[in-house]
Amino acid sequence: MSNVFEYAPAPESRAIVDIKPSYGLFIDGEFVDGGGTAFKTVNPATEEVLAEVAEASDADVDAAVRAARRAYTRVWSRMSGAERAKYLYRIARIIQERGRELAVLESIDNGKPIKESRDVDVPIVAAHFFYYAGWADKLKYSGYGDTPLGVAGQVIPWNFPLLMLAWKIAPALACGNTVVLKPAETTPLTALLFAEICQQADLPPGVVNIVTGAGDTGRAIVSHPDVDKVAFTGSTEVGKAIARAVAGTDKKVTLELGGKAANIVFDDAPLDQAVEGIVNGIFFNQGHVCCAGSRLLVQESVADEVMTRLKRRMATLRVGDPLDKNTDVGAINSAEQLAKIRELSEIGEAEGAERWSAPCELPSNGYWFAPTVFTGVSQAHRIAREEIFGPVLSVLTFRTPSEAVEKANNTPFGLSAGVWTDKGSRILSMANRLRAGVVWANTFNKFDPTSPFGGYKESGYGREGGRHGLEAYLKTDENGGTA
Ligand code: NAD
Repeated sequence: MSNVFEYAPAPESRAIVDIKPSYGLFIDGEFVDGGGTAFKTVNPATEEVLAEVAEASDADVDAAVRAARRAYTRVWSRMSGAERAKYLYRIARIIQERGRELAVLESIDNGKPIKESRDVDVPIVAAHFFYYAGWADKLKYSGYGDTPLGVAGQVIPWNFPLLMLAWKIAPALACGNTVVLKPAETTPLTALLFAEICQQADLPPGVVNIVTGAGDTGRAIVSHPDVDKVAFTGSTEVGKAIARAVAGTDKKVTLELGGKAANIVFDDAPLDQAVEGIVNGIFFNQGHVCCAGSRLLVQESVADEVMTRLKRRMATLRVGDPLDKNTDVGAINSAEQLAKIRELSEIGEAEGAERWSAPCELPSNGYWFAPTVFTGVSQAHRIAREEIFGPVLSVLTFRTPSEAVEKANNTPFGLSAGVWTDKGSRILSMANRLRAGVVWANTFNKFDPTSPFGGYKESGYGREGGRHGLEAYLKTDENGGTA
């Protein structure tokens, strides 16, 4: 079925953003030239080169850590929580004021639809700073004490560049730590705009330092001897390398890694709502979501009906220009990620699963992948076991709740799950039996700063968000806080 409605293009103007031809590093409150080389960041929807960005060398990382240490010792750890809160509130308000600029830049550099960067990412980013501003002067009631760790080294991925930055920086600063953060190499621009916001907020120099670069820069941060805390979000593979790198040091570590969430639909679920939840679960942010509902487990008695409605709905998804306000699914973030998605999809076909892709026209330039679903998938298939991190859904069926639990938990990951049913008692019993850090009921991909987020098993350890998110940035051993 083709689209029922035709839409005229409705692109958001990009005039609000001012992308410079080149960017330096943000160290000690100023933009400085890096001592290393530079790399290009590209608009994944057009392959247009947006800017050259400095690649921080080991010496640059060392300068950033030294600036963070100075700011920690001389200013930030001496300031009262109430004073720190004022800076966080100010940053939150500036994020709101400059929300459209941040959203447009995020969509250009990342490829995500403007309606997501504008209505999801940026509002939650501001909400995170507001929320943790509220904690800054109340840490002694947190259950984790109120002693900061020192300098936090933070490394984040490209799927939610600003949101991951907020999840890392807001609690760190609220607790009295200073920060050296590295954004992903394909999405550095909004972190650099955030650095400007720190200047605008008069944040004392060195409290936040942004160093750009790839894996080597990340490694230099993580292994720097004067970093007290390592916070990483990214792939399980790199997470394991980081865990090895910090083993034997007294650095505190949190790891937010990959996922392969089950989205479980029972036969008593409201099916149209469930189909919306399935679509949101796997096609939100092109499926570049660690907690994406990439494994649909549907009760056998309604499987055919769900698939019919799902394909009908998928055929209406609008794939294309991320800046168009009607776009549902934007560009894949990079050529490398597109190649990974294609490879695992081809493996799915070779393994005997049946592939169906939404009939949409893809732009000729840029990196694109049509929303796709695989049926006839078995648990042994690689598309059912490995994180694909793209708009690709694997469908399995089950007969009983126990079978659903067994299949859902049959994964090395444990980040999230979804349950769709009319029965409250079943929601509670499923939530208790699913080994996942977050279980959504009759909804999916809902994020809120008050709610802790994190994984079990190979999805990592530690929690971000909520009161629990403070634990990662406080000296709990000295305070005895384990609440
Ligand atoms: P990645 O692990 O390749 O890169 C993440 C970051 O780590 C990047 O900034 C990268 O430059 C840096 N890096 C790479 N090698 C490094 C090393 N040896 N030492 C230190 N830093 C290094 O992951 P990615 O492809 O950018 O992101 C996708 C992954 O992130 C997915 O697996 C996804 O599930 C995961 N993710 C998890 C969460 C969560 O909260 N659990 C959230 C978002 C994304």
